[in-house]
Amino acid sequence: MKSNKAKRSSLQLIRRFWPYEKKYLKTVILDLFCAALTCLCDLILPLILRTITNLAMTDLAALTVSLVLKLTFLYFILRLIDAGAQYYMADMGHVMGVYIETDMREDAFDHLLKLGYTYYSNTKIGQIMGRITNDLFDVTEFAHHCPEEFFIAGLKFVVSFVILCTYNVPLTILIFACIPLMTVVSIKLNRWQREAFRRQRIQIGELNAQIEDSLLGERVVKAFGVEEREKVKFTKGNQEFQDIKKLTYKTMAAFQASTRLFDGLMYLLVVLGGGLFVIRGAISPGDLVAYVMYVSTLIATIRRIVEFAEQFQRGMTGIERFFEIMDAPIEIQDAEDAVPLQMKEGSIDFKKVSFEYPDDHNHVLKDLSLHVAPGERVALVGPSGGGKTTLCNLIPRFYDVTGGEIDVDGQDIRHVTLKSLREAIGVVQQDVYLFSGSVAENIAYGKKDATMEEIRQAAKLAGADEFISGLKDGYDTYVGERGVKLSGGQKQRISIARVFLKNPPILILDEATSALDNESELLVGKSLNQLAQGRTTITIAHRLTTIRNYDRILVLSGDGIEEEGSHEELLKKRGSYYRLWNQLTGEDGEKSNDS
Ligand code: ADP
Ligand code: MG
Repeated sequence: MKSNKAKRSSLQLIRRFWPYEKKYLKTVILDLFCAALTCLCDLILPLILRTITNLAMTDLAALTVSLVLKLTFLYFILRLIDAGAQYYMADMGHVMGVYIETDMREDAFDHLLKLGYTYYSNTKIGQIMGRITNDLFDVTEFAHHCPEEFFIAGLKFVVSFVILCTYNVPLTILIFACIPLMTVVSIKLNRWQREAFRRQRIQIGELNAQIEDSLLGERVVKAFGVEEREKVKFTKGNQEFQDIKKLTYKTMAAFQASTRLFDGLMYLLVVLGGGLFVIRGAISPGDLVAYVMYVSTLIATIRRIVEFAEQFQRGMTGIERFFEIMDAPIEIQDAEDAVPLQMKEGSIDFKKVSFEYPDDHNHVLKDLSLHVAPGERVALVGPSGGGKTTLCNLIPRFYDVTGGEIDVDGQDIRHVTLKSLREAIGVVQQDVYLFSGSVAENIAYGKKDATMEEIRQAAKLAGADEFISGLKDGYDTYVGERGVKLSGGQKQRISIARVFLKNPPILILDEATSALDNESELLVGKSLNQLAQGRTTITIAHRLTTIRNYDRILVLSGDGIEEEGSHEELLKKRGSYYRLWNQLTGEDGEKSNDS
């Protein structure tokens, strides 16, 4: 039962893969035509030698120099054709494989860009990288060799069977009877091999992810002096990889040994049967020569299939892992009737919004209603884990609400295009990611056609122009992973300049300054205030002093909005905001209110 299922799934994978191959059907057909030509060459040689041997044994006078020259010339022409065909197969066949690989990688990347927060919070980047690089190399080989090898094998089996039968039927049937046995054993060993390859892939992905983790967190590792622990963890992963590779080689060895054993068996039959038949005069010596050569061709073909089986398994693994990416559901996408958001003034309405994270059935938000007026500045405060970030992530649809709806300017955000919605919203988060490229390119990330003048203007507004001008190459300074080192505050101001350039009517600031020191916080805080001018703004603040002047402050806890009002109103209430203020500022709320 189990083996049936595995076989079916191989077939299913090939069926799903077929459209990629079908796109290059012309090349596939030409490739198969060339494969047929090379088979012809292999199949004719025994006939030529048989003619010569038989004439030598029976009618030596007929074996003239001119006949030998004619046969040689015929074979020479066939070899030329064979060389041309081989060239085409090796070149165009592989190139077609590369085209298919490129198409698939393109599709995978396209799909990865559409996947949402849920996917990325549950997936290791190292694993994905392996899938869209190395795994697809194997698909290249598979795409080209799979049709070709099956075709060559099929053609050679059929033609050699027919020809061998003309010499001696019982011997041929005996030899071909061995082939199914070999095939069954090979399939079993193949499956074992495929499983080993699959595990090897998973383990190398794990190891990649682990190395990435240790190296990216290298500063933390050093600060805690836990190099030894990281080493132990790595050694374990590395050892597991070694074990799996050992297993893989064991499966390969069993495979190869069995192949040689079967080859031997077939020659054994030829030696025994052929010898006996010649003694009894059932076949001529020339036929025996041809016979041995055809059996050799047959054995070579089986060898090729066996070798190809490994490539086939690897290709299947690659295809399987490719489709695992393609099958990851796109959680957030445009509705069928989505229209561009009609931006007016930038109001936001939460209407009885509920939300729970997938796989985690605790309500983070429940029946929450909230109206943010155009241009209003609202601050969210409250205990860590209270749902502030979650609430903000719902507005650009990084997640979709699980109940209720959110409207922007009166339009349900699930019915407008994602592009137009996200264009209307600027987000500044605590972590800033700078892409590899110049400072200017990073600022213009959201507006590729921005002029240098606009970029500089945005940087000025973000309070970044001064330090950028002081960098080695000014706006052309290279940043990103291997670029110039910038302080947290500087990076944050670049990210604010990005948003200035984007100029969205709605702004979300999620603890944008909490990773910064006091001085940077002051600078960045100024830039943020500047940015918030005239925009509907929702701010999550960890320091309450920065939001004192906000139009409205909401205290969000696990139970929803606990309190709301201006700073003064909330202090007067002497509720949770009052307690929070005293806790975080160490000031007496009353006094600060009076002052
Ligand atoms: P805050 O920003 O107020 O600190 P969050 O919105 O980050 O709070 O988190 C609210 C709750 O949701 C917390 O209980 C947190 O554990 C949970 N949570 C946050 N992100 C995820 C996630 N990606 N998957 C599952 N649960 C999450
Ligand atoms: Mg948060």
